[in-house]
Amino acid sequence: MYRNKQLHSTTVSILLAVSGLLMATTAFTAGSAPHQSLDHSIVSAEIENTAILLRERALLDNLSVDIVESLTTEVGPRRIGTPGDKRAIAWAQDKFRQLGFDRVWIEEVDLDRGWIRGDAKAAIVSPYPHNIVLTALGYSVGTEGDLVGEIVEFKTLDDLEAVPEGDSLRGKIAFVSYSMRDYEPLPGESNMAGYGKGTRARGRGHVIAAKRGAAALLIRSVGTDTNRYAHTGSGYGYVDGVEKIPAAAISPPDAILIQNMLRRGKPVTLKMNLTSKITGPTRSANIIGEITGREGSDEYLVLGAHIDSWDEGTGAIDDGAGVGSMMAAAALIAQMEQRPRRSIRVLLFAGEEIGFYGIRSYIERHKNDVHEHIMGAEVDGGGGRIHTLTSGVGKNALPVVREIYKLIAPLGIEWSDANDAKGASDMSVLGKAGMPALDFAQNPNDYFDYHHTPNDTFDKIVPEDMRYLTAAYATFFYVAAELDVDFRR
Ligand SMILES: [Zn+2]
Repeated sequence: MYRNKQLHSTTVSILLAVSGLLMATTAFTAGSAPHQSLDHSIVSAEIENTAILLRERALLDNLSVDIVESLTTEVGPRRIGTPGDKRAIAWAQDKFRQLGFDRVWIEEVDLDRGWIRGDAKAAIVSPYPHNIVLTALGYSVGTEGDLVGEIVEFKTLDDLEAVPEGDSLRGKIAFVSYSMRDYEPLPGESNMAGYGKGTRARGRGHVIAAKRGAAALLIRSVGTDTNRYAHTGSGYGYVDGVEKIPAAAISPPDAILIQNMLRRGKPVTLKMNLTSKITGPTRSANIIGEITGREGSDEYLVLGAHIDSWDEGTGAIDDGAGVGSMMAAAALIAQMEQRPRRSIRVLLFAGEEIGFYGIRSYIERHKNDVHEHIMGAEVDGGGGRIHTLTSGVGKNALPVVREIYKLIAPLGIEWSDANDAKGASDMSVLGKAGMPALDFAQNPNDYFDYHHTPNDTFDKIVPEDMRYLTAAYATFFYVAAELDVDFRR
């Protein structure tokens, strides 16, 4: 359906004629900036014109949205190691081919364990009987029947950690009530700081609680909403020699309800039943699609996203939006009259959600050719528009990146002088291994209202924002692939 077609020259001239009009239209868009003139000794007038044409075409093209629709409809949930994950690997290869990528392949990823979610039920038994909405945290063990215990609240993970190790919580259910919604970032902290604090309890709380004798860990869901559903997410696994206790997240309204009961000073007893189960080793794969550069394939720019998702929604914003925008950005470049000078690879990583399994396996396999990855970026923050670009390139390349940036500035994107980017999510592992990286910071929209919940579904995608997102990546990476620049130096 989206098979690569070269643009006919008549189409090009029509598009060139309307692109002037479009630029006038986009000038009215909130947050957009006027065109900045380029230094043609760095980016030629020809490349500039082609890039503007590509950008304006991308703003009209719904491909990125259509890809998310296809993934969420035809595959749906795709937690690593599940049948949905296998369907996603087949889907991605087919989609790359339909979109006209020149090379498509997979690289297998071994996983030491699988997991069955099972059912999660809970209720307050006393003093005031209520049903509680909760969900198991990833790779939690089950409760082996009903687990009944008194709830002990800790406002933060640090408060739980302050309890001496041993028996002080024997038989109790430790409840960390930290609320991302109520967290106020300190001066200089990003709006991600509140999420980071929440993931500490989600990741390690079960081990810290078990060392103090607790029978289970509950956390308030890590999210910014007050919906009556829970946000799942990964625990960082169990530790040898520490009892494996069940861990679950409860919905924000139920967390507040439990806090209100505890405030009355009487013991609050909860009954919970999780049928989750850790299973044996399994296998997944990273999927790679390449637009081969006209000067060969041994140097490539990389666009990343993760193919896996949590299993209760259909992974539209996390990370269908990344898959859709990155595949579409490269596909739009492939629809141009000729291939860019250097190759562009789209890397769809396995197992990001459970701790960067795919990228770790990728780095192991590619440790001798990290230098061939000449620059990269990843979308793993939903489908919102980009508001700020920060580079992480060599000193000599910085003026070049600054010049390319001018071509996406009209999309409402600011420039940061920090030049300390390491790349988002999976791509940060390559960034730390020495690959020049870019951080395209996005508007979060309502990302953390839906993240890791049953409500992460296709209707949350904002098509206009996805087109802006995709246009920025297509434009920037086309020019970066066209220029003969070493971004490390
Ligand atoms: Zn993600």
